[in-house]
Amino acid sequence: MNFIGIFIVSSLLYCLTQIFVRFILAVHNKSSKRCVDMRKKYVVFLAPLLFCFCSAATAFAASFKKDVRIDNEFVQTYREKQGKWIILNESKFSLEKILKEYGSEEIDVRQINEIGLDASFPKSSPVFFPFGEEYVKNLLTVGKGRDIVISDAREFIWPVSTNSRITSRIGKRWNTLHSGVDIACSKGSVVVAAADGLVISARDSGNFGLSVEIQHDINNIQTMYAHNSRLLIKAGEKVKKGQIIALSGNTGHSTGPHLHFEVKYQNVVLNPEHYLPAFPKESEKLVVMKEENQ
Ligand SMILES: [Zn+2]
Repeated sequence: MNFIGIFIVSSLLYCLTQIFVRFILAVHNKSSKRCVDMRKKYVVFLAPLLFCFCSAATAFAASFKKDVRIDNEFVQTYREKQGKWIILNESKFSLEKILKEYGSEEIDVRQINEIGLDASFPKSSPVFFPFGEEYVKNLLTVGKGRDIVISDAREFIWPVSTNSRITSRIGKRWNTLHSGVDIACSKGSVVVAAADGLVISARDSGNFGLSVEIQHDINNIQTMYAHNSRLLIKAGEKVKKGQIIALSGNTGHSTGPHLHFEVKYQNVVLNPEHYLPAFPKESEKLVVMKEENQ
């Protein structure tokens, strides 16, 4: 609902509540045979106003709630298309077989990955294969669609799935500051953008290994995702909340496969858990909706 919608609904609610309160008072006055005194006038004015304010506030908060589809190992998104990232050297199938299996057109694959018409496909870096319509339908039919969560557009989501756990929080660790949260997850887990934003860097950054930094509109905050095994987006690209950006790993200064996730404002690290809902437990998966064939 947009602001005009909220305004119209609020005005209607205000008028209806006024009529209702006036009616109640009129019935009451008839029986008591007394004039409407000042207190009643206040009730006529204030009660509908209060009701209207509460309704408008609720509608305003609800207007930020949106369905967010979270990419998984089966359905991934890139440049608004559904498909999957594949490294040809690591796939047991040939290029031709992959194109046929996913129903992808070679020209579309070249276009979305910016591979020239005469250039050969890269073998050791990820290539995005957009799915044909039929393949998407089949995936959804067998329950491999993405999880759908309702999320406030002003809040972040956790960047890895619920098959993970927090192993280290922000704060003092030995004699240094641990500047984010560590989420243990097996190598190759899907890492998604915590909110819509612009990728400001995607590179090997020493101790943090293969890492991605995203600038968000939300309070001008940046997020950082470190120690990945593969980066799937480049600096300068726009990403959507829930869109795959990397595969987790153990690169840089890391003692085991995990995702190091940071939230920063003007280079000052903030506690990521203050900007995220409670870490999802496995049991909470039950309330997550699954993308279905419409
Ligand atoms: Zn860490």
